Amino acid sequence: MKENLNPYVISQVQFDQAADHLKLDPGLREVLRRPKRQMVVSIPTKMDDGSIKVFEGYRVQHNIARGPAKGGIRYHPNVSLDEVKALAAWMAWKTAVVNIPFGGGKGGVICDSRRMSLGELERMTRRFVSEILPIIGPDRDIPAPDMYTDAQTMAWVMDTYSMTVGYSSLGVVTGKPVSLGGSEGRNEATARGCLFVAQEAGKVKRRPLKGATVAVQGFGNAGSIAARLFAEQKAKIIAVSDSRGGIVNPRGIDVAKAIRHKEKSGSVIGLAGTSRIRNQEILELKCDILIPAALENVITADNANNIKAKIIVEAANGPVTPMADDILSRKGVFVVPDILANAGGVTVSYFEWVQDLQNFFWEENEVNNKLETIMKRAFHEVYETSRKYRVTMRVAAYILAVGRVADATLVRGLFP
Ligand code: NAD
Repeated sequence: MKENLNPYVISQVQFDQAADHLKLDPGLREVLRRPKRQMVVSIPTKMDDGSIKVFEGYRVQHNIARGPAKGGIRYHPNVSLDEVKALAAWMAWKTAVVNIPFGGGKGGVICDSRRMSLGELERMTRRFVSEILPIIGPDRDIPAPDMYTDAQTMAWVMDTYSMTVGYSSLGVVTGKPVSLGGSEGRNEATARGCLFVAQEAGKVKRRPLKGATVAVQGFGNAGSIAARLFAEQKAKIIAVSDSRGGIVNPRGIDVAKAIRHKEKSGSVIGLAGTSRIRNQEILELKCDILIPAALENVITADNANNIKAKIIVEAANGPVTPMADDILSRKGVFVVPDILANAGGVTVSYFEWVQDLQNFFWEENEVNNKLETIMKRAFHEVYETSRKYRVTMRVAAYILAVGRVADATLVRGLFP
């Protein structure tokens, strides 16, 4: 049977598994299964050569029963409405897994940001924000960075929103520079969250991080910082990769050098003392921990049988398909699912929003300690649920999350 790789279909398969376990009422199930609101916008942008290009952008709010929508903005040539719908749903379940008072949303623009100048990116971002402005705001929907957007992009979002409403609104977006109401620790938060859950996974699976071999696919915000933090805990990073390919050294890669090499040359490839491997091969290396930190659907029915890692920590959203999940589960691979593993980012985004609303800012230690408490609590709640229902960590995370959103929806009641 050919596997359906549409991320929105995949997100619904994952939801349905949890809904079955929870025996959700059919009406409630339909409500939670679909996005609450979808906005499609055209973004006319003046390019540097004087021409005008019209980009297509999306903002989707999956569910806001537990609080304002929350989720990143992605710039990528392969962005589609279905991808953004899936990512918005995953955000709704993710905020519920870590039990922070947000719903789920996501945005994206179809563009090849790596081929655009800073000026073009700024004009496109500002026009995108002005198009989605009616549905975003500190109490409505709070964007954040995702693939190929960063703190600078978020500063433009904050400024465009603020100039339009007529006052400075710090809480409209998270992942901002620290000089503009950003939070200490936000830049590292996704990777640090991965580290905390990997430490707990190591305890229950009796595989301590110290000395563990680790392969990381994707070397951006999530992947490169995860590699650095895992190495600081004395794990051995044996392979890393980016969009151009990967590098391997079974004796260990110096992560700081790899980061500097990528900053200088644009890729990790060519780092002295490493050999080159293909992006697909990095997933199939013999290692203790595999961290996919790039795109969706990289582990499918086609390659799941070749995976040799003992533990997978999903820094990326949607890297493992449902058919691959079944294969990995039969092989005994312990998968810490995306909606738990990469929830550190949204958790510190929540801290950033709280600090912005209070105009009272915390030290980095306080941020990291609060993050550790939330990630470790969430890990053990998911782990206990997986034992109670005798299901994988992914199904358990969905059972916990969907149950929480269903409770909030039921107690609010159906309007009107
Ligand atoms: P980023 O733009 O900082 O980095 C993306 C990295 O992936 C780059 O190194 C790029 O070279 C690499 N890449 C792109 N295509 C690739 C390919 N085909 N094979 C291998 N590598 C490839 O993005 P990011 O913020 O690190 O996001 C990465 C993943 O983590 C995404 O799935 C994102 O949704 C998820 N995530 C990010 C955050 C966050 O706070 N940044 C939070 C939660 C989840």
